[in-house]
Amino acid sequence: MDHYQRSNLNYFSAGGLDRATQLRPKDAWLQARLADAATRIVPVWRMQNLLCGDVMPLPVLLSPMQLRDVGVDCANAVLLGTRAEVAYFALDLAGDETPLERLVPAGASFRELRDVGPLLDADAGSLLAYARAITYWHARHRHCGDCGSPTRVAEGGHLRVCAAPRCGQKHFPRTDPAIIVLVVHPGGLGDEERCLLGRQREWPETLYSAVAGFVEPGESLEDAVVREVAEETGIGVSAVHYHSSQPWPFPSSIMLGFTATARDARIVRHDDELADARWFSRTDIVEALAHGRLRVARRVSIAYRLLEDWFDAGRLGPLAGYLGE
Ligand SMILES: [Zn+2]
Repeated sequence: MDHYQRSNLNYFSAGGLDRATQLRPKDAWLQARLADAATRIVPVWRMQNLLCGDVMPLPVLLSPMQLRDVGVDCANAVLLGTRAEVAYFALDLAGDETPLERLVPAGASFRELRDVGPLLDADAGSLLAYARAITYWHARHRHCGDCGSPTRVAEGGHLRVCAAPRCGQKHFPRTDPAIIVLVVHPGGLGDEERCLLGRQREWPETLYSAVAGFVEPGESLEDAVVREVAEETGIGVSAVHYHSSQPWPFPSSIMLGFTATARDARIVRHDDELADARWFSRTDIVEALAHGRLRVARRVSIAYRLLEDWFDAGRLGPLAGYLGE
């Protein structure tokens, strides 16, 4: 499996949407789509997505007419892309408190994607993640970072331009790179191979996951892997391999997944980010899961994918078989 295939298996990736980059500057086309009843708008309100149903939640997509009927202006809707000749836009409803009650169909509500993500199908999860990420970027770039003047939306929402004539700086949507790494200790002399999992202070007592952190300016991804593992656990790593990536709009990251080999096994926590870090063999994981002493990262996360790929390469069968879900 190549990296692209692996990334496509990561939730929130591979939504099957054509991003239609060549259509973004075409104002007449954008206007026509926003006047087309077939167009689907993904509403976002306070970083939450509109969903209906509990057991099998479905995204609620609206037409431009439904929004206009309750007085919501679609001029700043962001073109997400097209699928089967239907255009999809995201629209941030922040501030539109009054029409909201009339807008939300019976049984639907705005909910946190992180909570409902595992229950959505992959295409829906990807669409809502994209809408959430780009509306978050817009909400934080209303003013120019260079001169402080207001910015205006251009190119279907994939550009903001500073309105000050002397500045005119262009601001493009960005995402924040973060690395996540499953460190493996090879074992030997009869010892099982083990992986390194940590628990952040604010997490539930039994939840353990791979080491993660933001990439700093002036740093390669691999340098970030080495630094984060050393800072959080004191472990030196000798080999760093890229695994796959995952858009992670909580609020604005892309997670870059790696595996690495530990040079030693002695854990020393240098910073306060983790409350605990431990080595787990596959047998340890099976036993801890069975006794309720361990919870692993949610299945929608790349953290789970990294752990699953490592675990499933052993002799105890698929990790999913031990989760009881
Ligand atoms: Zn400016």
